[in-house]
Amino acid sequence: MRRIIVAGNWKMNKTRSEMQDFITNLVTELDSFEELLALPLICPPYVYLQESKRICGQSKLEIAAQDVSKYESGAYTGEISAPMLSSIGVSYCIIGHSERREYHNETDNEIRDKLLILRKERIVPIICVGEKLEEREKGTTSDTIISQLSEIFRDVEVNDPAEQIIAYEPVWAIGTGKTATPELAQEVHSLIREWLAERYSSDMAAGISILYGGSVKPDNFASLLQEPDIDGGLIGGASLALVDYLTLLKTGNRIAGTLQS
Ligand code: PEP
Repeated sequence: MRRIIVAGNWKMNKTRSEMQDFITNLVTELDSFEELLALPLICPPYVYLQESKRICGQSKLEIAAQDVSKYESGAYTGEISAPMLSSIGVSYCIIGHSERREYHNETDNEIRDKLLILRKERIVPIICVGEKLEEREKGTTSDTIISQLSEIFRDVEVNDPAEQIIAYEPVWAIGTGKTATPELAQEVHSLIREWLAERYSSDMAAGISILYGGSVKPDNFASLLQEPDIDGGLIGGASLALVDYLTLLKTGNRIAGTLQS
């Protein structure tokens, strides 16, 4: 069964001591959960990955990288490779975030390269797709999403639904305070699941977690999670304050409980 995932993407935020406080306190808070059904995941900047993993210890908190190089090794100054992430025990990594696409001109073909390189290291990619405002206004959202998925998964075999996570992040909703309505997000999540069923199989489609991202806040998360194809959130701004992140995690955990019963 798909698990609700509450993924906090810190982007380029927090000093080392802020990271230490957040992760230490979050790990302590996790002990007070009677049962942790939702998966807590934090994506700190690269420089904190190793230390945040060490602070996590044996807790249920997972740490993810925010990006990875498409190359395995070599003369690529400033880049971080999948084998490097794997060597410090990172098991999740965001790829294709719209900020990488926009500010670093990343293409779907490069995101595919990253997917394949992470696969080799058994790191679960969190693959972001989403339309820009002009595309939504022109009514071409579905074309954009299907074209992104088709290129990223071109000739890629999927044997296990847990091998990857998809995040639908409408670009116009990221960091803007404009959240997609639950109905609108569900429409795209269901389109993604239909595409996966056709491309792979209905079992595969049913098993892959699809997160929503775009101005998720403590007061709108529950209504998004009520939708049948929304399996969690990729959350930027609202993951920076521990109190907000914990509220989101508790919401995810409560809804995971209702889905189980
Ligand atoms: C994100 O960083 O992927 C994101 C969705 O940011 P925000 O929640 O701030 O819109």
